[in-house]
Amino acid sequence: MLADFYHRELRDLRISVTDRCNFRCTYCMPFDEYVWIDREKLLTFEEITRLTRLFVQLGVTKVRLTGGEPLLRSQLEGLITQLGEVPGLSDICLTTNASRLVEKATSLRAAGLSRINISLDTLDGEKFKRIAKRDKLSEVLAGIFAAKASGFKPIKINMVVERGVNDDEIISMIEFCREHELSLRFIEYMDVGNANTWSSSKIVSKKEILERISNFYPTQDGGREKASDPAVQYAFSDRRGDIGFIASVTEPFCTNCTRARLTADGKFVTCLFSNDGLDLKTILRGGATDEVVTELITSAWQKRSDRYSDERFEALNSSEGYDPRLQKKIEMITLGG
Ligand code: SAM
Ligand code: SF4
Ligand code: SF4
Repeated sequence: MLADFYHRELRDLRISVTDRCNFRCTYCMPFDEYVWIDREKLLTFEEITRLTRLFVQLGVTKVRLTGGEPLLRSQLEGLITQLGEVPGLSDICLTTNASRLVEKATSLRAAGLSRINISLDTLDGEKFKRIAKRDKLSEVLAGIFAAKASGFKPIKINMVVERGVNDDEIISMIEFCREHELSLRFIEYMDVGNANTWSSSKIVSKKEILERISNFYPTQDGGREKASDPAVQYAFSDRRGDIGFIASVTEPFCTNCTRARLTADGKFVTCLFSNDGLDLKTILRGGATDEVVTELITSAWQKRSDRYSDERFEALNSSEGYDPRLQKKIEMITLGG
């Protein structure tokens, strides 16, 4: 089994299929103008499938398609069908802002998509416009219901909680998700990329959220489904649904991180906070054999010693403190969240 410097296996692959997005979420990519990757520099579906096959041979069992907004990549269903033919790949998941799910949910399911995670930070239309800089809440809600109607289950809802922005909606989001049988996950605001204005004061921690909801919705700690899962699950005491927490800032989980990433322009990246990666696209287009590509991936993973969130945690708790701007990072839209 392929393992890195800290004995972490390579198990999951997140693939950014495009850096383009129709939203401009303040915590992710707030710039109105952005230099997008040229289309010919994006990996083709055939290149993605070939690389996925090699990653699966090295131990990957689960792939997540993300971006940018993955549903902006035309004919994504065609990629899902191709990935469905990769022997040994058991799980093909998608993370989306749901704005195009009304048109796409049925065909994605028919193509073989296993699961969907949807980002939703607020149920208030005006606030949605401030966060995503687009007036699209009704499309997103319709997209969520279309995914449900197409038979996706469970549907996970990702809510990035930002102090002073949407932390007043923690309870209403729980109620909405319980009513509609959606599995809500609170995500601590992270210092991804270079474009947002992250500061530690904007984080609402897992601990604080649990304290705030305890009088309304008592919960029981259910732990992680798998040791390598980013989310810790909690069941509501009345057994009507559950919630999860991705507490990367206050309870980092680098020790069990088995995730690799493929950027939209074909770089193999070993951490969400990396500033560069191994340019597999150029290697593929240069005519490299599967053996050569496999060797390069193997050697990059064996050298991997990333533990960014652990280091941030240590810095935040030290006398020096932590400055996210000291390290340049690949933007999350390119890297795949
Ligand atoms: N566009 C899709 C979407 O929004 O679901 C997929 C890509 S997006 C980069 C993937 C996930 O990253 C989303 O759930 C989003 O909320 C999360 N994300 C983006 N910026 C973040 C930040 N600064 N902190 C925590 N999560 C973030
Ligand atoms: Fe928002 Fe996702 Fe687009 Fe980032 S990629 S701006 S999180 S919709
Ligand atoms: Fe994995 Fe990097 Fe996130 Fe740590 S910071 S959990 S190594 S992606």
